[in-house]
Amino acid sequence: MVTCKTADFNNFSIVKTQLDILYLDACNKEHTYLFDQVMLGQFHPLYKEIKTSWGREPFFHADLSLKEMRNILMARTEMLPLNWKPWYPSNNFNCSLCNLNVHEDIKHFLFDCLILREFRNSDFNNSNNVIQILNGSIGWKNLANYVNRALNYRTMLTNEFNFND
Ligand SMILES: [Zn+2]
Repeated sequence: MVTCKTADFNNFSIVKTQLDILYLDACNKEHTYLFDQVMLGQFHPLYKEIKTSWGREPFFHADLSLKEMRNILMARTEMLPLNWKPWYPSNNFNCSLCNLNVHEDIKHFLFDCLILREFRNSDFNNSNNVIQILNGSIGWKNLANYVNRALNYRTMLTNEFNFND
């Protein structure tokens, strides 16, 4: 004879198992939806190449300040205050600092802008792959420091000389 308590426990186990299955299914659908949105994104094209798996950003585990993490996140998502802003198609995207007449995007900011070269250490010279650098190949601290110093210098120049930005 099955006691009332045993029957309740069995029913609970069955319900819990079914709820766990539903929960996992809902999570998988949400992950797929979010990845689809990233893949369709046109304004942040690098992020889909950088963030290829589900989970926390890898630099969250590094010993970084909140400001350093913010700079890295803004660089990885192409949200730094640079002139390349494809969501404003009528804007001038060219770099305000140098005379190369090229778009001031994250690649130009990290590698090519001559005005910012003094902030790049030898780790930058040994890499020319923007995806690798945005995935921490030169070290998260190194990347955060470059973004901070180069961005401050850029801000100072654009304010001092009233460059368009
Ligand atoms: Zn430039």
